[in-house]
Amino acid sequence: MKVCSPNTRICAMCFHWNGYAGGANVKPRKGMRNVYEYQPEEKQICYKNHFEKKAWNSCNEWQRKY
Ligand code: SF4
Repeated sequence: MKVCSPNTRICAMCFHWNGYAGGANVKPRKGMRNVYEYQPEEKQICYKNHFEKKAWNSCNEWQRKY
């Protein structure tokens, strides 16, 4: 697991990654504000461009989700 802030511009923190469900391994880190955990190799479909993207990928259509 890696950690990041919710305004990090990666797919794991993006509104479009796997639609409303989001990443299966994305969750807030217990006891810490504004820190999220994610599994960098998790793959999900981006609902914006319909490609499969890894959690650490990014693009210029990123929108904050959390
Ligand atoms: S590819 Fe872009 S729009 Fe799609 S989930 Fe990743 S950052 Fe968001």
